[in-house]
Amino acid sequence: MDSDASPSRLTDRLGRPLRDLRISVTDRCNFRCSYCMPKEVFDSRHVFLAHKELLSFEEITRLARVFVAQGVQKIRLTGGEPLLRKDIEQLVRMLSTLRTPEGRTVDLTLTTNGSLLARKALALREAGLSRIAVSVDAMDDDIFRRMNDVDFPLADVLEGIDAASRAGFAPIKINMVVKRGTNDSQILPMAQHFRGSGAIVRFIEFMDVGSTNGWRMDEVLPSAEVIARIQERYPLEALERTETGETAQRWRYRDGAGEVGVISSVTQAFCRDCTRLRLSTEGKVYLCLFAHQGHDLRTLLRSGCDDEHIAAAVRHIWSGRADRYSELRSKGEPDPGSGARRIEMHYIGG
Ligand code: SAM
Ligand code: SF4
Ligand code: SF4
Repeated sequence: MDSDASPSRLTDRLGRPLRDLRISVTDRCNFRCSYCMPKEVFDSRHVFLAHKELLSFEEITRLARVFVAQGVQKIRLTGGEPLLRKDIEQLVRMLSTLRTPEGRTVDLTLTTNGSLLARKALALREAGLSRIAVSVDAMDDDIFRRMNDVDFPLADVLEGIDAASRAGFAPIKINMVVKRGTNDSQILPMAQHFRGSGAIVRFIEFMDVGSTNGWRMDEVLPSAEVIARIQERYPLEALERTETGETAQRWRYRDGAGEVGVISSVTQAFCRDCTRLRLSTEGKVYLCLFAHQGHDLRTLLRSGCDDEHIAAAVRHIWSGRADRYSELRSKGEPDPGSGARRIEMHYIGG
């Protein structure tokens, strides 16, 4: 190992440590949310990754072990729709055995659209998944079906959330992407439905990720407005952040009915604290959600090199990182990679 090998000292060019790893386990999804995989683009002509291109569970676990040795404390499984990956609970079981250099377990979480959760919740819990987040964009069934654009009923997702709760997941996070004029009428119904249930709704600003979702600033409803709308009905007070790198600002209902969060990726960039690295389904590492290019680790993995080689590559990649796209955008500064095609959300996960 070189002299800079200590995970606690692995920082990027802006002094940010590597703490969170998001692993996309599939680029496929059974939903076609317009903000992520619009139907017109992701139709029958779209070519998804072939099976041989995907990292196997053994390859994912091997890479994850290297990342954990370099400082990662949290792993989030995402996609596409992660529950579409066959035997995903097997991967959860493998990742749950990882330990940090200090001997602690890794916080292992998964984000899902909930469509298959009723069937999978218990197996995921038993395999060692620590936490779960479910995306729900409306409480009105018509709006919900329109948002997923495959006419999927809300009731099945709510059943999945109940199953997750019975399996012992708590608190369950509920993610709602808010698009002004499309589902902002659902902010209060969402707050109302999940208040007092133990679940935490997080309202996410519609982001300009990728280049296919037709993003427009006038469809972004700023988080401050989300909070103001909830406040009018249910008084809230701000909570302190519990950890650096936390993306959500947390608020508590004053009457004790739990909390909500807002993720203000557009109006209040949080790049300063961004400790996240993303691993794509085919083994490329991305340093930012808005990156244009990834670093290929699959070739290295399959070349027969040892873990120390891979660890050196990871240190090299992270220590060269200076990404802060959202911060630059909010200052009106140009994106250094503009002109190149950005990666898509369903490919890299949230
Ligand atoms: N399919 C799973 C799901 O929907 O939860 C996991 C993958 S999805 C890409 C991860 C998260 O990204 C979801 O909560 C989704 O709502 C969010 N997301 C996707 N596109 C987005 C966008 N343009 N702006 C903000 N959030 C987005
Ligand atoms: Fe699928 Fe999730 Fe993207 Fe919706 S947000 S299309 S559920 S990957
Ligand atoms: Fe992190 Fe990039 Fe998002 Fe900034 S824009 S918070 S650097 S992923």
